[in-house]
Amino acid sequence: MEPKKTPNTVAKLNRILSKVRRRRVTTIDVVLDLIDEFGHVAIQALDALEEGRAYRIRFGRAYNVSFFVGNRDYYIILPETGYCGCISKYAVGAVERSLCYHFIAFKLMESLGIVKELSFEKRDFRWVIDELKYKKIDMDI
Ligand SMILES: [Zn+2]
Repeated sequence: MEPKKTPNTVAKLNRILSKVRRRRVTTIDVVLDLIDEFGHVAIQALDALEEGRAYRIRFGRAYNVSFFVGNRDYYIILPETGYCGCISKYAVGAVERSLCYHFIAFKLMESLGIVKELSFEKRDFRWVIDELKYKKIDMDI
């Protein structure tokens, strides 16, 4: 099945994940709904649960930034909008593109309650982003 387009797919994703949010587990009916709606991208997202990491990092009172950190890179996620930073790397059809697996994986982790929350001072923004980018530090603190 062809993946569908944003932004109404964010609402569909939220609807499917409402069961996960209630139960804090991923069940087979949720997996089947995700695959039915998003096809192979859903399978990639489920695979990414194993190796990926999701973060919500607060910088002082000013910034609250969400990330999905995959094997090769990290991506800024805007959870309410369907935006993932990988759009800058794969810009073809950017306006009408489908949700990527980073975004679906982040939302799944958010629904499971396993997004790691970290806080830093606002002045730490640059180095934290650099550390995330190059994975120099273990953010599992
Ligand atoms: Zn992405």
